[in-house]
Amino acid sequence: PAIELAGVVKEYLAHGEVVQAVKGITMTISEGEFFSLLGPSGCGKTTTMRMIAGFEDPSRGTVRLHGQDVTDVPPNKRDVNMVFQSYALFPHMNVWENVAFGLRRKKVAAAEIKRRVGEMLEIVDLTGREKRRPREMSGGQQQRVALARALVNNPRALLLDEPLGALDLKLRQAMQIELKRIQREVGITFVYVTHDQSEALTMSDRIAVMNDGLVEQLAAPREIYERPATAFVAGFIGTSNLLGGTVDRVASGCAVLRAGDEGRILVAGDAHRAGDDVTVTVRPEKITISAEEPGGEVSAVRGTVSEVVYLGLYNSYAVRLADGAEITVFQQNALDSTSTAERGEAVWLSWQPRHS
Ligand code: ADP
Ligand code: MG
Repeated sequence: PAIELAGVVKEYLAHGEVVQAVKGITMTISEGEFFSLLGPSGCGKTTTMRMIAGFEDPSRGTVRLHGQDVTDVPPNKRDVNMVFQSYALFPHMNVWENVAFGLRRKKVAAAEIKRRVGEMLEIVDLTGREKRRPREMSGGQQQRVALARALVNNPRALLLDEPLGALDLKLRQAMQIELKRIQREVGITFVYVTHDQSEALTMSDRIAVMNDGLVEQLAAPREIYERPATAFVAGFIGTSNLLGGTVDRVASGCAVLRAGDEGRILVAGDAHRAGDDVTVTVRPEKITISAEEPGGEVSAVRGTVSEVVYLGLYNSYAVRLADGAEITVFQQNALDSTSTAERGEAVWLSWQPRHS
């Protein structure tokens, strides 16, 4: 493994009170992996990164890099580099000088510097811009200079803390693809911090979803999206509907909630008993809207369409259930799609038990 955290806790003393920014993280990041820390502002992402880089000492626990315990090793002696959202480029230096800075300070031979800086500028697609100053470049170009400057030192792992946060959406999306390409090309471990779930889903091999100083789920993007481990993860990643009820009966491998003329919710598996209160999450795109009550082994609830929003590729429907809950449904606008529900219409919503 490239990076291992074992029982890592970080406490700060703020106004005489102990604040736990990180409450106990144990995880392993593999060599060559694109790994993301994803979570809302204040959940401890930056603090975790700074402990990996060595800018902060853990209050408890250990950090290992490439098999070596580095808990007491200073940042400049660790085989990692960090890229910040603010780029932190030297404004008075041109692109070439910015990228060459670290190598020059380490007294690397001139010919070697020339070769490595040239190679890095090629990788980040800035060949021909060597003489430009940071202020003469776009935000995306400045970010690529910062990336080249971090990568030119040949670190075994690169830590990126919200590196695209200052860019507008279009540029951010282009840079996401660019970063992924660069990571593949240089083949080193990337640890990427973001609060943007779509960014993490697009780029990562695995994601650690953080909440309030803890990792709630660590898995591949698809697993996190399809099988969120907690209600927090389900709510934070994409759009999700929460439905609940009391188990009425258990039949043929399914718990049946809320039977009656308002519908039924089937929960696959044998984890539940009659009388249990159960909450399920269902993604909007897994739900089908129909005028008639669907038959078969599906979950089905009745409601009234309260809103329809046309979003190009798909429509987003808000459907209000009898108990007041509002359910979001996405229906793709296929070429031949003629079935569109109108506002105020009474409809049935249904989905397969395995999708909740
Ligand atoms: P994130 O990067 O996920 O937004 P941070 O790691 O920056 O979160 O912060 C996590 C928590 O720790 C926040 O509540 C923050 O206020 C607190 N915190 C971070 N750094 C310090 C510090 N130097 N002193 C006191 N509290 C801090
Ligand atoms: Mg942060």
